[in-house]
Amino acid sequence: MWRASNNALPVNTNLAHRHIQVDTTCAECQSYPETIIHVLWSCMFASQVWHNDQSFSALHAPMGGSFKDLIWCAMDAENKIDIELFAMIAWAIWKRRNIFRINQAADTPDRVFTQARDLLQEYSQALPPQVSKHHQPTDPCIWKPPPPGSFKANFDGAIFTNQLSAGIGVIIRNTNGDPIATLSKKIPLATSVEIVEARAAREALLLAYQLQLSNVIFEGDSSIIIAALSTSDECVTNYGTIIEECKAVAHSCSWRNFQHIRRQGNSAAHLLARKAKDLSEANVWLACMPPELIPVLSFDNVSVSS
Ligand SMILES: [Zn+2]
Repeated sequence: MWRASNNALPVNTNLAHRHIQVDTTCAECQSYPETIIHVLWSCMFASQVWHNDQSFSALHAPMGGSFKDLIWCAMDAENKIDIELFAMIAWAIWKRRNIFRINQAADTPDRVFTQARDLLQEYSQALPPQVSKHHQPTDPCIWKPPPPGSFKANFDGAIFTNQLSAGIGVIIRNTNGDPIATLSKKIPLATSVEIVEARAAREALLLAYQLQLSNVIFEGDSSIIIAALSTSDECVTNYGTIIEECKAVAHSCSWRNFQHIRRQGNSAAHLLARKAKDLSEANVWLACMPPELIPVLSFDNVSVSS
C-alpha cells in the first residue's frame, strides 16, 4: 500500500519515466496507459474484482486522481470501507498482474477477490485476540447514553481531499441522550487520518473542559486513537504530541474513560465532522444544535430504547 500510494510500483508508465524501453499500454485491457490507479482500480479487470463487494463498487476515485487520493476517499467514505480488505484486494490485484505479465495462467476476478478475503480472514484469526481488530464482535456499534450523572463526548474526523482540508465533529450528550454541546470545525489537511482523529479527540476534551464537566466518557471510532489515549505509555508517533496534550487535559480533570465505538454508533459526530466542509470557522452550538443532526439523534435514542 505504501508503494502504491507513493507511486513507487513498477507499472509500465513508471518504467518508461525511468527511460526503460517498455510499451506503456496496460497488458490486460490493451486500451489505457498502465498507471498505478489504472491497474489497481480503473482497469476493467480490477473493476470486476472490486465489484464483488458493494462497499467498494460505491466508491468513486477522484477524476484524474492518484491511488493515494483513492485511499483518502476510501477512508472518508460515507459507508465505512474495510481498509484492511481494501489493502488486501489491491495487493492481490497487483500480484495477479505480475503473474499475468509472465503469461502464466492468471486467476479470474472472482477468484482474486475470494483469495484476498480468505487470506485476510486467515491472517486475522492467526493474530492474538488483543491484536486482532478485524470484525471484532465486542465492538459496540449502537450508541448508548452514559450512566446517570455523567456525560458522553463523541468525536470524529473527516477528510475533504478536494479542498485539502479536514473536518472535526464533537457532540456531548447527557444521560437522556440530549445534546448539551456540539462542535464542527474545519482544519487544514493533515498527513494522516490518525492526526485528524487525534485532533478531534483533543477538541472533545477541550470542549468538555470549557464546560467544566466532571464525569465524561470519550468515545471515538478510531481504535488506534482510543488505544493511544487509554495507555499510560508515551505515544511516540506523528500524532504523539496531540495525544500527550489530550492526556494532560484528561489527567487534570480525572477523566479516564476512553471507549471505542464502530462508525455506525458514531454517526452524530461523523455528521458534524462532515458539516465542517461548508464552514469557514469553528461552529460551537450550546443548547441548540444544527437541524440536520435531529434524525441522527432520534436514531441513536430509538436504538437505545429498543
Ligand atoms: Zn487496463
